[in-house]
Amino acid sequence: MTSTFDFNNNSHRRYNPLTDSWVLVSPHRTQRPWLGQQEKNLTDVLPAYDPKCYLCPGNTRATGAVNDKYGSTYVFVNDYQAVKDDQPPYEQPTENNLRNRLLRVQGVAGNCYVICFSPNHNVTLPLMTVPEIENVIGTWTDLYLKMQSETKFRYLQIFENKGASMGCSNPHPHCQAWCTESLPSEPAKEILSLRKYKAENGTCLLCDYNTIEMEDPKRVVVSNDSFIAVVPFWAIWPFETLVLSKSHTTSLAEFTPAQKADLADLIQKLTVRYDNLFETSFPYSMGMHQAPVNPLDSDEKDLSHFHMHFYPPLLRGATVRKFLVGYEMLGEPQRDLTPEQAADRIRAVDEVHYSKK
Ligand SMILES: [Zn+2]
Ligand SMILES: [Zn+2]
Ligand SMILES: [Zn+2]
Repeated sequence: MTSTFDFNNNSHRRYNPLTDSWVLVSPHRTQRPWLGQQEKNLTDVLPAYDPKCYLCPGNTRATGAVNDKYGSTYVFVNDYQAVKDDQPPYEQPTENNLRNRLLRVQGVAGNCYVICFSPNHNVTLPLMTVPEIENVIGTWTDLYLKMQSETKFRYLQIFENKGASMGCSNPHPHCQAWCTESLPSEPAKEILSLRKYKAENGTCLLCDYNTIEMEDPKRVVVSNDSFIAVVPFWAIWPFETLVLSKSHTTSLAEFTPAQKADLADLIQKLTVRYDNLFETSFPYSMGMHQAPVNPLDSDEKDLSHFHMHFYPPLLRGATVRKFLVGYEMLGEPQRDLTPEQAADRIRAVDEVHYSKK
């Protein structure tokens, strides 16, 4: 046994100040053999237009609705919404009894949108141009502004599930945006942490985290004038990244055109590196956290700091994914590769997409 603690060889826990939780890091385990599930590496070449795809321009969806013959991005209300706007309000029982204490309910009305990134069936964000990704960001921003005007909605959660291993049923490039009357648990936890940190230190947790990462950029994988992408110190997924706005900007609605162009540039560079890591279309769940569209108070807005999370499941190649099971479901999340090692790997790949070489 050595006498000094070695972060690359000794197990330790790292604290996630954003969600007030811990992750167990076991870097000495990266060499263990893998006998578990292998994912299929789908190298099928997709057509630019698929007559059976319910997202391609001009096609008819299951409900009989017909898509516009759109030419860039396209937004429509999800035909099978997880939350709907037309439902009666839920009357919360007020009597203080055992049932009402333990079996709690909130009614949630809302709207779910589908946003097609492109009319082309066979592209993904890393294969789109920066101006095309700027259009996507513009569409996200327009939807955010539209939801601000619908005062009963609290939060707009924009997210993309990419790849069959993340449960995405259609390869057509698209994301979803769910707008709800309630503030969902993840952004609610983060706002609570940002509030606590501000009360204790007088500063923004994510602005301070930015400063640390830029001073010693060993976890930074891509950066430009307005944004950085880092494998966060407390990452759970092997190649998880956090995209942070360098300025304290609370939402998409506050970005200048130059900042939006920088965000598009960063998303493209990051996702190209992801695809190049294992020369596969890299699956992930991605989404952004920002100020609620209708904050309860000005604090809730001012505390928010725009950022995006990328949670990719792949572990060691295109066919081996990480599962959050066993200790991770019952104890706490655990990782083998350190975030610093993961950042080294993402930085080491080529910045030109492998399919274009
Ligand atoms: Zn399609
Ligand atoms: Zn900040
Ligand atoms: Zn977040």
